[in-house]
Amino acid sequence: MPDSIYKRMIKLMSPFWVYIIISSFSAIIFVLLNSASIWLTATLINNILLDFDKIVKSQMEWLNNDALTLNEKLKFYTNLIILRETPAESLRVLCIIILSVFFGKNIFLYIKNYLLRIVELSLVRDIRNKLYAHIQSLSLGYFNRQKTGNLTSIVINDVEHLQIALGATFQKLFVEPINIITFVGLLFIISWKLALIALIIIPLAGIAVIGIGKSIRRKSRRTQKKVADIMQILSETLSSIRIVKAFANENNEIIKFSKESKNYFKLLLRRGRLDLLAGPITESFGVVIGVILLWYGGTEVLMQRGLNPEDFIRFILILFSILGPIKQMGNVNLRIQTGYASAERIFSLLDTPIDITENSNPIQLKSFNNYIEFKNLSFEYEETEGLVLSNINFKINKGEVVAIVGPSGAGKSTIADLIPRFYDPIDGEILIDQENIKKLSLVSLRKNMGIVTQDVILFNDTIKNNIAYAQPKATLESIINACKAANALEFIEEIPEGFEAIIGERGVKLSGGQKQRIAIARALLKNPPILILDEATSSLDTESEKKVQTAIEALLKDRTALIIAHRLSTVQSANKIITIEKGRISEIGTHNELYSNDGLYRKLYDIQFLKT
Ligand code: ATP
Repeated sequence: MPDSIYKRMIKLMSPFWVYIIISSFSAIIFVLLNSASIWLTATLINNILLDFDKIVKSQMEWLNNDALTLNEKLKFYTNLIILRETPAESLRVLCIIILSVFFGKNIFLYIKNYLLRIVELSLVRDIRNKLYAHIQSLSLGYFNRQKTGNLTSIVINDVEHLQIALGATFQKLFVEPINIITFVGLLFIISWKLALIALIIIPLAGIAVIGIGKSIRRKSRRTQKKVADIMQILSETLSSIRIVKAFANENNEIIKFSKESKNYFKLLLRRGRLDLLAGPITESFGVVIGVILLWYGGTEVLMQRGLNPEDFIRFILILFSILGPIKQMGNVNLRIQTGYASAERIFSLLDTPIDITENSNPIQLKSFNNYIEFKNLSFEYEETEGLVLSNINFKINKGEVVAIVGPSGAGKSTIADLIPRFYDPIDGEILIDQENIKKLSLVSLRKNMGIVTQDVILFNDTIKNNIAYAQPKATLESIINACKAANALEFIEEIPEGFEAIIGERGVKLSGGQKQRIAIARALLKNPPILILDEATSSLDTESEKKVQTAIEALLKDRTALIIAHRLSTVQSANKIITIEKGRISEIGTHNELYSNDGLYRKLYDIQFLKT
């Protein structure tokens, strides 16, 4: 729906109406002064410099004539202001007036542009904030489906394109149309016949410009997509540079990248060709119009058929002054087309429905008192066919540690992800203290949980800020205590900058075990009643493993926990062990019960036991 994008932009602009009104007002004054400056220039050239006596004579005639044309009236009043005793004196007055008119015109142009710049930048700021807030509220499912490069490209590139488009549009759209209308009006006042000829030819130029604009819009959409693809390749390879290197696949990556680059280059070149054509085409049309008029008008003057030289000079001056605004409008059209494609992508992201929604009147989960229960729960990922979990039923009572074990891909992490509502089940429900978690406020639900995942995600920030993430008010003392309990204090103190040390992107400056202990310290500091722990599968050396293990024990103390367990010790001491096979629960019981069951647990246990 093409107009809805414009409508939405206008709606976004509505809070800035005061700025817009003042700038429109300034634009009108600018246009009036601008027209006056051209008008006066013609007066200067023709009357004062060429034929002063004649102008005095016609002024006397006009004074006594009641039936003046509009053109004559305008000339009469102009003369009234500038005519003095001698040409030199008149020249002086005229120069002062021209100076003031130019000066005033530029002041108003500046005011208009400055106010519009405020509107433009505020608009872009608001859109970017809205986008970011919206992205934050989208579910993990959405991020699984979307490439992050694509999102980055929208937030960075598209918003920037929109800003450029808005800038150009605002600067021009608020003044050039009024400019054109005023100029055209003056043309008609001076000579309607000549003006009519001009008006017939000018639309031809318009048609050409619009045609080019349409084509640019199509190309622009394609280039945006290519940028997203390139970004994707970049961010993918950069974030998995280890794997690329490990497989010595640099060359292939380079080839892949340069292939995308080449396509992008081609598109840009094609777009550039059209972009660059637009200027010359409009200009050529302008010149054709000018020449036709010059020929026709000149003949009129030479034949002395109602058009005098002053009128003709003024007509030509104004006509050439129109070409500028028309050309600008052509460029605005191009900018709008590029901006339009970006705006489409921005709005479509803003329109992405939030699939994990809250009740209109959500219940606040103030405290966790009794149990978490999975009831007849089934789940399927949107992008893959088939149930990942089916008919899951189990209960975690307050204070219990429940471990989930099972082969890779069985659905363990998915179970863990459903409790904080990263995804919603397609059937069945999860209850916390009798309440379906869908009825709870998302923030209160997640505030009650600590989540430690296998893949520890750290920000490129100080150790302290990473631990105190989302808890900026935490005191250093509490952070130190958390680190002590997480067995992390020792290694942090060995780093020269200590808590202020910056961890590289994704924590690459830390070992796997250290990262895990930081993540555990983070959870300890949050001190949530419910804990979801996805134990790391990556093997740590015995020393490090022991340290992580003690950290986990500290974390589990006095908490209700669901653990995706890989380590024997955690599993053995759990109150309940659940085995998952192909998305179904196959066994539930304590270590002793399941071990004597001789089922999946026994098998997994034996494999691991024999291995260790
Ligand atoms: P592991 O021990 O290897 O981590 P897991 O038991 O935790 O495995 P899950 O990660 O829950 O298994 O995955 C269960 C199934 O769902 C797998 O078949 C997996 O391919 C699929 N799956 C996991 N995440 C997604 C996703 N985001 N989109 C689509 N399918 C997914």
